[in-house]
Amino acid sequence: MTLQIKLESRTIDKVERMRKVYNFSAGPAMLPEEVLLQAQAEMLDWHETGMSIMELGHRGPEFKRVAEKAEADLRELMSIPKNYQVLFLAGGATTQFSMVPLNLFDGKRSADYVDTGIWSKKAIAEASRYGRVNVVAQTQHQDRLDYIPAQDQWTMNEDAVYLHYTPNETIGGIEFQWIPQTGNVPLVADMTSMILSRPVNVNDYGIIYAGAQKNIGQAGITVVIIREDLIKEPLPKTPALYSYKLHAEHNSFYNTPPTYSWYISGLVLAWMKHKGGVQAFYQQNLRKAKTLYSLIDQYKDFYISRVHPDCRSLMNVMFHLCNETLTPHFLEEAEKIGLTNLRGHRVSGGVRASIYNAMPEDGVNMLADFMMDFARRKG
Ligand SMILES: *Cc1c(COP(=O)(O)O)cnc(C)c1O
Repeated sequence: MTLQIKLESRTIDKVERMRKVYNFSAGPAMLPEEVLLQAQAEMLDWHETGMSIMELGHRGPEFKRVAEKAEADLRELMSIPKNYQVLFLAGGATTQFSMVPLNLFDGKRSADYVDTGIWSKKAIAEASRYGRVNVVAQTQHQDRLDYIPAQDQWTMNEDAVYLHYTPNETIGGIEFQWIPQTGNVPLVADMTSMILSRPVNVNDYGIIYAGAQKNIGQAGITVVIIREDLIKEPLPKTPALYSYKLHAEHNSFYNTPPTYSWYISGLVLAWMKHKGGVQAFYQQNLRKAKTLYSLIDQYKDFYISRVHPDCRSLMNVMFHLCNETLTPHFLEEAEKIGLTNLRGHRVSGGVRASIYNAMPEDGVNMLADFMMDFARRKG
């Protein structure tokens, strides 16, 4: 396998994958090897400045170019319309659980939330501190399968300030394959674990936010894509750094942004463009997920997915071994051959393979081969 990447003026050629493990962690997650090599190559001397990017002033022209290029690449990859601002903010996606209600609540109307799992619940708990929250729907359970109720069963409020949902629940491995229709109510989406994994129409959303450490880059920075009409005065006593308006007015440079995280995001976005953009990754992601789910279904006396096939996640493949006592052996053997971090979340147990954009198909194929072999030996 030959990989080549050209970012700005430098080219890194590489004949062989250098790392020995495939990391299936849900986040912080695997980064493309080309990006890590690029960062390594320019660590001590970034673009002949004699400094690392970490040491460059955030208000200088050099960092400005890095920041603007990352935004331009994200805009291109997602076809973000002009009437949306893109913010790169410190704090994780969890910070957005507070920022969304603080900036959108008007002191009168309530907000609608869809509860599909643990991240939704955290967002709901946080919003409830600042205003009235109406939970319009919850994940249902039938015939041992979790599923998202169809929208005609939701109890939506036409007068809601916004509707918040989590398109992909990272822990449960449950993902919407459709977009909620909310009419004039702005749709707010926590896309942390699925942004850039499939095409989305930004126009369908009021706000999209995503912590970077799953599909964009490294921890420490969160991307917020916000329609301009939603940028307004936040609730009284909102801390300055929690105001979208303040950040928008200063192009995310009100205070020192997490410059290194921003730079790494830029490298990943350039890498994505180089590899064919969102559509190319989507096709690859479909193949990767299909490889694992087909195998789970084929060996259904051995592996079980508890998520309804209509809402299985493309990014976080969650499954259990029918005989749970074998799970520790499964994880141990996988680890030995370099398939690492497959343990399910402590709440859900089981096995979870997070297969974000940076997980190569080779890694997924190797996991599928191992799963087949393990089932044949132990089944
Ligand atoms: C990981 C994750 C978060 C939390 O992100 P932090 O950066 O740790 O705050 C929130 N929502 C979803 C959907 C996630 O996957």
